[in-house]
Amino acid sequence: MLGIETSCDETGVALLRWYPEAPGEGLLSHALYSQIKLHAEYGGVVPELASRDHVRKLLPLVREALAQAGLTPADLGGVAYTAGPGLVGALLVGASAARAMAWALGVPAIGVHHMEGHLLAPLLEEDPPEPPFVALLVSGGHSMLVEVKGIGEYRILGDTLDDAAGEAFDKTAKLMGLPYPGGPALAKLAEQGRPGAFRFSRPMTDRPGLDFSFSGLKTQVLLAWQQSDQSEQTRADIARAFEEAIVDTMIIKCRRALQAAGAKRLVIAGGVGANKRLRAELAAAGEKDGFKAYFPRLAFCTDNGAMIALAGAIRLAHGQHQDESVQVFPRWDLETLPPAM
Ligand code: ATP
Ligand code: MG
Ligand code: FE
Repeated sequence: MLGIETSCDETGVALLRWYPEAPGEGLLSHALYSQIKLHAEYGGVVPELASRDHVRKLLPLVREALAQAGLTPADLGGVAYTAGPGLVGALLVGASAARAMAWALGVPAIGVHHMEGHLLAPLLEEDPPEPPFVALLVSGGHSMLVEVKGIGEYRILGDTLDDAAGEAFDKTAKLMGLPYPGGPALAKLAEQGRPGAFRFSRPMTDRPGLDFSFSGLKTQVLLAWQQSDQSEQTRADIARAFEEAIVDTMIIKCRRALQAAGAKRLVIAGGVGANKRLRAELAAAGEKDGFKAYFPRLAFCTDNGAMIALAGAIRLAHGQHQDESVQVFPRWDLETLPPAM
């Protein structure tokens, strides 16, 4: 299975041989090109520039992944691509290329839901989690708690009312003057922060429910930063307090979600899943409460082709694939996916 990811500002490609019992062992190669530098001077992703750069980078990356795996196009049994949600122009580049390759090779094309890709990414690791489980999906555009009864059987337990977790990291970083995209830089800075120097609230944890809201935290940070001496140490201290507030909030909600779903397994995925404090504290909470936390490796937290190849391989193994049209879904509700059975 060739997997192609072009939903936003990362061109990702991977090749996967399908081993149902140990999917990660089938990962033959993966290649990624990030457009971060291209968009940095604008302070955010410029959709049209993203589409054009996917056009430039996609086929060279496919060739690179094939060469790394020692395969030729004739070896492919299917082509999976991100069909949504995401930027429409960017999605269309991957979808058209994938559909054309599949048609030329006479193999099926599989349109994958980007968030299902993120959600299944931990299956590429050793000791993959088996449904039922609860998934915390925290990325640039999403913050969701999902009950996973089986692959394709998703119920959204909680969602964000405003900013996504990654977006909150990025915007908070920006308002303290860190360059785009600030999330990972803010997390790095937080390592130098002193504990207890600042404290921010844990939004919406004082009432029942599993929804998130992170935009108020951003305002708290803005006020604290404006009223401070704005030194390097203060920036790190605020970064630390902000990260603690977000991580704490997510842990509280994860515990509630596991209880609500009666689940013993928690899957964490999406770009914010790369956050070290989140990983360490969720693993610790699991040991305390008796649940097991599953994470993708760092490279498969953010966007990548491997998770798309995997989701495509699973769908194809259940006889699901696309017809010959090229269709993308910039907005696409995860709950509407069919079960894989
Ligand atoms: P979506 O998947 O919702 O469409 P996306 O694909 O843009 O959005 P991802 O690639 O999954 O998002 O993740 C990118 C986000 O993850 C960015 O907002 C980035 O700041 C955040 N992120 C990456 N690493 C870290 C980290 N170590 N700590 C906190 N946030 C991080
Ligand atoms: Mg990205
Ligand atoms: Fe993503």
